[in-house]
Amino acid sequence: MPVKILIRYGEIALKGKNRRFFEDFLLQNLKQTVRGSAAQIVRLRGRFLAIAPEKERDKIISRLSRVFGVVSLSAVQPAALELPAIQAAAAALVQDLAPEAPLTFKVEARRSNKSFPLTSPEINRLVGAYILEMIPHLRVDVHNPALRLSIEIGQEEAFLYHDRHSGPGGLPVGVTGKGLLLLSGGIDSPVAGWMAMKRGLAVEAVHFHSFPFTGRRSQEKAADLCRALALYAGEIPLHMVSVTAIQKEIRSRCPEELGILLLRRMMLRAAEKIARRRGLEALITGESLGQVASQTLESMAVIGGASGMLILRPLLGLDKHEIVDRARAVGTYAISIRPFEDCCTLFVPKHPATRPSPKRVEEAEAALDIGGLLEEALAGAELEFIKE
Ligand code: ATP
Ligand code: MG
Repeated sequence: MPVKILIRYGEIALKGKNRRFFEDFLLQNLKQTVRGSAAQIVRLRGRFLAIAPEKERDKIISRLSRVFGVVSLSAVQPAALELPAIQAAAAALVQDLAPEAPLTFKVEARRSNKSFPLTSPEINRLVGAYILEMIPHLRVDVHNPALRLSIEIGQEEAFLYHDRHSGPGGLPVGVTGKGLLLLSGGIDSPVAGWMAMKRGLAVEAVHFHSFPFTGRRSQEKAADLCRALALYAGEIPLHMVSVTAIQKEIRSRCPEELGILLLRRMMLRAAEKIARRRGLEALITGESLGQVASQTLESMAVIGGASGMLILRPLLGLDKHEIVDRARAVGTYAISIRPFEDCCTLFVPKHPATRPSPKRVEEAEAALDIGGLLEEALAGAELEFIKE
């Protein structure tokens, strides 16, 4: 017997006439997620249903529970749309769960099909009474039952279930557009990428490195972070760009305390060029506010000013410990804390400027051949498609 998994989505149901558009995206993403398995996804009214071989049950549930837009999932027992069939399925399901032990339960029916002749309270009562008759050692407890037996009366069949796995919620990836994530090897930027995806953005990533001053391992780390994010998005194109030559120029030609700031501006310019070439509409960074010298309002303004593109900073309102908790839950934390050298930490000035004036920055940049440096860096960029 194949297992059926009921997939609930939330927010997208609220979006009025865009609903169909959102549902189509979600359906496509669900299908993409189970590709390579024997599972199939079908559309119901206001729900989706995955049908998979029993042996793939856990794998499919864990995959589906990472699809943005999904609020929750339940493995369900289908029954024909008639009271006796529903009663029999209910008793069998409870029997399976509680062969002998005394147990309290409650029936919770919900009718999305209003043409079904019984109301929800009537279903609760009639199914509950039938279960008590068949399995006399059970008791009903409507306030704090050990087992909640849910019954959904659908258009073509009824679904019975007792467990519920949560999904990540949010919007289906791709539905709000495409963005380019500036992905360092740190804790923050992968979480920022995850949060952008949660709001429906399809994400590509760019990682800037200083090979050979930074080892291959920091590039592998960026790829591994992408792989962890790809669990939620299917595939993430990762652009690898060397900023070694740019750093050398900045070091030899510009004031030391502006080093990081100037490098960040170059990163944003390079990111913008990649984004425009790839048809991506926004840049996404892991910047928060107040964390480090480069994250004062003044620095963020000066850094962001290098690009004319919309910059999203999904972490802005989060404390560090909230970001860490999120990184753990998402699954990127263990990768992020691996030791590595970041191209920025290599050239950390003793006293980074915290209140840089745009004018000083402009003067410092006059010593650089910005166009030439960017062209060279991007000519050497590599693109890899990272899958889970
Ligand atoms: P993270 O933990 O993401 O590294 P952070 O707290 O260390 O963030 P910064 O070092 O100020 O903050 O970097 C701010 C943002 O700039 C990062 O979140 C990331 O989006 C981007 N960034 C920094 N370094 C790189 C890099 N080497 N490649 C790509 N993006 C980078
Ligand atoms: Mg960092």
